[in-house]
Amino acid sequence: MNDEFKTLKKFDAGNGREGFLHSLPELETQGVGKISRLPISIRIVLESVLRNCDGKKVRGKDVETLARWDAKKPANEEIPFVVARIVLQDFTGVPLVVDLAAMRSAVKRLGGDPKIIEPLVPVDLVVDHSVQVDFFGSAQALRLNLEMEFKRNRERYQFLKWGQQAFKTFQLIPPGIGIVHQVNLEYLAKGVLSQKSEIRGQRSEIFYPDTLVGTDSHTTMINGLGVVGWGVGGIEAEAGMLGQPVYFLTPEIVGVHLSGRLKEGVTATDLVLHITQMLRAQKVVGKFVEFYGEGAASLPVPDRATIGNMSPEYGATIGYFPVDQESVNYLRATGRSDEQCAAFENYFRAQKMFGMPRKGEIDYSVDLELDLGQVQPGVAGPKRPQDRINLPELGQTFRSLLQKPVKDGGYGIENVDLDAKHPVQLNGSAPQDDEMASTDNRNQGIEPGDERNKVEMVANRPTPDTAREFKASTADPFRHGRSEIGHGSVLIAAITSCTNTSNPSVMLAAGLLAKKAVDRGMRVDPAVKTSLAPGSRVVSDYLTKTGLQPYLDQLGFNLVGYGCTTCIGNSGPLHPKIEKAIHDYDLVAASVLSGNRNFEARVHQNIKANFLMSPPLVVAFALAGRVDLDLTKEPIGKDKDGKETFLRDLWPSLKEVRDAMQSALTPEVFRRLYRDFANQNPKWNEIPSSTGDIYQWDEKSDYIHEPPFFKDFSMEVGKIENIVGARALGIFGDSVTTDHISPAGAIKASSPAGQYLMSRGIKPEDFNSYGSRRGNDLVMTRGTFANVRIKNLMVPGTEGGVTKYYGPATGPATSTSGEQMSIYDAAMKYQKDNVPLVILAGHEYGTGSSRDWAAKGTRLLGVKAVIAASFERIHRSNLVGMGVLPLQFPEGTNAQTLNLDGSEVFSITGLSDSIEPGKTVTLEIQRKNGGRDSVPVRLRIDTPIEIDYYRHGGILQFVLRQLLASK
Ligand code: SF4
Repeated sequence: MNDEFKTLKKFDAGNGREGFLHSLPELETQGVGKISRLPISIRIVLESVLRNCDGKKVRGKDVETLARWDAKKPANEEIPFVVARIVLQDFTGVPLVVDLAAMRSAVKRLGGDPKIIEPLVPVDLVVDHSVQVDFFGSAQALRLNLEMEFKRNRERYQFLKWGQQAFKTFQLIPPGIGIVHQVNLEYLAKGVLSQKSEIRGQRSEIFYPDTLVGTDSHTTMINGLGVVGWGVGGIEAEAGMLGQPVYFLTPEIVGVHLSGRLKEGVTATDLVLHITQMLRAQKVVGKFVEFYGEGAASLPVPDRATIGNMSPEYGATIGYFPVDQESVNYLRATGRSDEQCAAFENYFRAQKMFGMPRKGEIDYSVDLELDLGQVQPGVAGPKRPQDRINLPELGQTFRSLLQKPVKDGGYGIENVDLDAKHPVQLNGSAPQDDEMASTDNRNQGIEPGDERNKVEMVANRPTPDTAREFKASTADPFRHGRSEIGHGSVLIAAITSCTNTSNPSVMLAAGLLAKKAVDRGMRVDPAVKTSLAPGSRVVSDYLTKTGLQPYLDQLGFNLVGYGCTTCIGNSGPLHPKIEKAIHDYDLVAASVLSGNRNFEARVHQNIKANFLMSPPLVVAFALAGRVDLDLTKEPIGKDKDGKETFLRDLWPSLKEVRDAMQSALTPEVFRRLYRDFANQNPKWNEIPSSTGDIYQWDEKSDYIHEPPFFKDFSMEVGKIENIVGARALGIFGDSVTTDHISPAGAIKASSPAGQYLMSRGIKPEDFNSYGSRRGNDLVMTRGTFANVRIKNLMVPGTEGGVTKYYGPATGPATSTSGEQMSIYDAAMKYQKDNVPLVILAGHEYGTGSSRDWAAKGTRLLGVKAVIAASFERIHRSNLVGMGVLPLQFPEGTNAQTLNLDGSEVFSITGLSDSIEPGKTVTLEIQRKNGGRDSVPVRLRIDTPIEIDYYRHGGILQFVLRQLLASK
């Protein structure tokens, strides 16, 4: 056991257990920094650095640097953070396991032992991102969506089952259990972990804080429980799994002092949207945020988790809440053992890190204040989570955005009647229309519990299989009825996302509001696609126990699955007639969801205005059917007697919510629902899986394919050299998201990926999403920059993955006018001629969810460098991890100020093996009229280790060479 600083100490771990810890107070006693003034989140990272200090991967200098962290002037040093565990979701997890399998194959080809590739820390993969809302508004929606999910994802699930048996430290939580972050909060997180170790000649137990990284940006949710963790790209997570530290620069830490209490009628969602707006304005990107003070102490852990969850939306690496009695109470209430809870509390007490810090006790880089009493009910949107709107102002804001020019963030609707409504008759387009009953329960006053609810079925565009299912179950696949839609009509209302479904107070508030609405005989318009997708089965347990689920059902919020659904864009299709009306009348229709992201085309390709809000407000707006109103003054609708009903008539009081909570949540429920997952899901057990250390790649599979990253792999390391004679593949504006670069949603039949799948005999209805095909590089490369909303400024006025191809820099094939074609086709033509490619972009390039394929696809298209005005943290590091060079324009410079249209030839000079992080190199531009310009650009390789990754051609190659060399 490493103990360079002689800080190993015995402590009482509770319940008769004695253990060791690396004492931070002892480190302070020895004069290595004023640890007791450090933010708690930094102390937790420091403990990891101290414990793993072996003089090689982690050096004594690293301990000293961090222990002497200066709040006002943090040293610009990289910190090697060895995390205790790793969590994955299936979209990002599958490609990671594919890469591990590919590494094993590469090791075997080189004559080594494939088993040297093995996760060195515990890895949990939760299958949560694959469920789609194909069916809704029915008691059978859950079962049918699960069946569809298994049908669509069978090959991926077979592969994951192989991974489960091939790697020892890999736990898989099958579909239908929950959402990764909620499962992490309610079950996986331990607060403190221990390991048997030889200490001073004796077998002992060493304790250390629970820390993690996850391949999902909302991994940050776990900071609400006092566990430090954040989202990294799959590439970094892979390195973490293979024993490499996660490196990050010593952060600035923003302390947010919370005071006061939330007012009646204000939810945790309102609070997190307020914080998101407030912290975005404070520019906390790349910083840690720590909440403290009596206001923080007053928040229950689920509220803290909601705030931690949205760190990516406010831009921080984490939004951390220190451990206190409330944290221990939460562990106990969620069924963790007494032994676990005692160890958690005693460990943090022994480290003098227990209890919510008060003002003045800790030194932060920046001090902010928030009085919780000032928070107002609100929503955020229609395009960005930080654009918060006070609830009374929503209608007015929406209406003004309708006419505002697109360049100013509006929708640019001109010369039409904004109030026009268009009738849609929702029937008659089902394949077996004449064979299906056409009752609409919601228009017939069916009460909760009525058997007829069980056969009502609301779904759209059934595939032949699903249509047969309906026929077999005599259910009706379409919601029938007449509706009228126009600008601002709510067409999707989804209670979704771990952000909120992990929080019983807002979920129960939604149920209570639904009950009051149903009691008044209110109904949801048939045009609204309603869904409820909690992040764990615990939610269903308490909604059932409190008797609230039937009221949600009555409004169409039946359970559709336990997974991400609408939050990740798996909202499923809308009724074809609704889609047609949106298209014909160019409608700016709305979705309302309790999610955390609302970038264009994320929720649904045809819904342009997406508003984030609390679950009870989702129900309220579903009832209202539109967003262009002031719900605090205008009626939501009419009750059964035709009397106008207002939000205030339906809104549950804090007391009602608390009473419901107390009667519903018990530790036994968590223990019962979080055990023996495989056997609770027979469909999972039915999937056959292959066995062995090496995966047998199947060329027939269109889900799992051996990626080319280790093709021709050798132990020889490459050289860093200038990039010469490059062409631009794309020029983009600000805020290009990872979803623009590598979409997760639907694959269009006309896109390169769609064409490829069809050439393999796959019908469009079986395409599944990009997210589900991340185990196949052939699809994902074709899908890179293929988001239908991405705007390549090289082809002004277009949307989607198109570019202009100009041919090689010199020679007969050079073109000055350019030929328009898909980005993929152009990239392949350039590759054929060995022409390097660059991407030019504006601010916040790569914002949004962590997405390793955004970097992998960029590399496989042949892009050598991305030059942007600024980068989002994870995507920048993923680019380096894939051997793509991130470069930053000087302040105030971009492709537009340089008058670039993509016809130029680019070179990047000043690159060599001796480059240093942050060095300035030169972008040389040769224009088609012969003009030349030079622009200094900053290397966004931020740390020395990243230079090594880049030199090796990427982090995977670096790790593989290290592993092979050490054996
Ligand atoms: S529910 Fe949303 S935020 Fe949570 S893991 Fe799924 S996609 Fe991410």
